[in-house]
Amino acid sequence: MLKNDQLAEWDRDNFFHPSTALGAFARGELDNRVVKTASGVFIEDREGNKLLDAFAGLYCVNVGYGRQDIAEAIADQARELAYYHSYVGHGTEASITLSKMILDRAPDNMSKVYFGLGGSDANETNVKLIWYYNNILDRPEKKKIISRWRGYHGSGLVTGSLTGLELFHKKFDLPVEQVIHTEAPYYFRRDDLDMSEEQFVAHCASELEAVIEREGADTIAAFIGEPVLGTGGIVPPPAGYWPAIQAVLKKHDILLIADEVVTGFGRLGSMFGSEHYGIEPDIITIAKGLTSAYAPLSGSIVSDKVWAVLEKGTDENGPIGHGWTYSAHPIGAAAGVANLKLLDELNLVSNAGEVGAYLNKSMAEALGEHANVGDIRGEGMLCAVEFVKDRDSRSFFDAADKIGPQIAAKLLEQDKVIARAMPQGDILGFAPPFCLTKEEADTVVAATARAVKAVL
Ligand code: PLP
Repeated sequence: MLKNDQLAEWDRDNFFHPSTALGAFARGELDNRVVKTASGVFIEDREGNKLLDAFAGLYCVNVGYGRQDIAEAIADQARELAYYHSYVGHGTEASITLSKMILDRAPDNMSKVYFGLGGSDANETNVKLIWYYNNILDRPEKKKIISRWRGYHGSGLVTGSLTGLELFHKKFDLPVEQVIHTEAPYYFRRDDLDMSEEQFVAHCASELEAVIEREGADTIAAFIGEPVLGTGGIVPPPAGYWPAIQAVLKKHDILLIADEVVTGFGRLGSMFGSEHYGIEPDIITIAKGLTSAYAPLSGSIVSDKVWAVLEKGTDENGPIGHGWTYSAHPIGAAAGVANLKLLDELNLVSNAGEVGAYLNKSMAEALGEHANVGDIRGEGMLCAVEFVKDRDSRSFFDAADKIGPQIAAKLLEQDKVIARAMPQGDILGFAPPFCLTKEEADTVVAATARAVKAVL
C-alpha cells in the first residue's frame, strides 16, 4: 500500500478536485480525506477512522455501502460483456431489463427511458429533447426553460444555468439566455412577505404566471423543478405547491421536468417524488438512486406525449442526433438492476420513510427549541437544520461567519458523523442511506446536538 505522505503529494500535484477551493487545497488548508472502504452507513479512511456518513456520499449511496450483490452483478457483467453500445437499436440484456424495471416503477404516463451517465447530462438531454419536440411541433420560438432560484440541476452549460445558486454561475458567464429563474418555494426565508403558507403558495404560482406572461407563453418550453429542493437547502414544498404550479403550466402548454435525481427511487419514502406529491411530469430525470452510485448511470424518462412527437420527428428527419458512447453502459445497467432488486428485497423504500420520519422527529425534539435554530424540516430520508442569529427577529448570520461549515466540522471532529453544510445559508443537511437504523439515527441526532452546543 502506498504511504499516506506519497499519496497526499500525488493528490496535490496531479488531481483537479471538483467543487473545491483549489488554492486552499494546494496549501494543505482543507480537511480532506482519502477514503479506503465502507460498509452500511459507515466509511473508513486510510488512517482507520470510521465515520457515519449521514449524507450517503452526495445523497446517492441509497442502499448503503458494501453491498456484495451489486458488486457481484458488476463483476459478472464486466466478465461477460464489459461494453457494447446502444446506438442504432443495439442493446444488452442488462440495459433492456433495467429500462423495463424503471418503467414498471415510474408513473403510468411514462413511456421510455434514455440512459446517460449522471444527473447533469440527463438534464442536458432533457433540454435538447424539449427543443427538438417544439421544433417538430413547428413552434421554433418555444425554447426557454424556467427554473427556480435555489434549484440544483447540474454543472454543465445549460444545466449549470438551470441551477439557481450563485456559486454555480459566478465567473462562468451563466446563466445562458434561454434560462429564466423564478421564486423558490422556500416559505421559511420569505418572512418579508408576511403571508400565510397558503398565501405563499398562491404567490409562487402567480410569480410563475407573471414570468410566463412577461416572456410570452409561446417562448417558454418547460419548467424544471426538484420535488424537494435539495442542494438549495433541503426544502420540502409547502402543501399545495405542486398542484398550483402544475395548473399554471398546463394552462400555458408548458412541459414539466421533475428532476428526481435525489428523490427518485425512494428517498422520500415513495418510489418517486412525483408520486409523493401528485406531480404529473412530462419528463423525469433520474440518476443517483438508480444505481445507488455503485456505477455512474442516469436517465431521462419521457412520457407518452413527448415520445409520440420524438418518434414522428425521427420518421421525418432521420435518427435522433443525440447519443453518448456510454449511454446505457452495461456495467451501470447491471448495477441498476441489482440495486433496484435490493431496494425491493430489503424493503428499503419504506425504511427510508419510517426511519427518515424518526430522524426528523428526533432532530426536532433535540434542537427545536435552540435559540439559534430557525427551522428543522425534511421529508423521508432528508432532513435539514437551519441556523439563525436570532430566532425571534429571524436574522441570519453573515456568510463569512461560516456557521454551517463550522458545525459540520465539529460534528466530524467530535463524533465522526458526516453531514453536509449546504452551499447557500447556514443549513446542515442530512441524507443518510436508507438502511439507517433508529439507533444510528439517535447517534446522528445526539452528535448534532453536541456539535451545535460546541459552536453556538
Ligand atoms: N439534479 C439534481 C436534483 C441533483 O441533486 C444533482 C446533483 O447533485 C444533479 C441534477 C446533477 O447530477 P450529477 O452531479 O450526477 O451530474
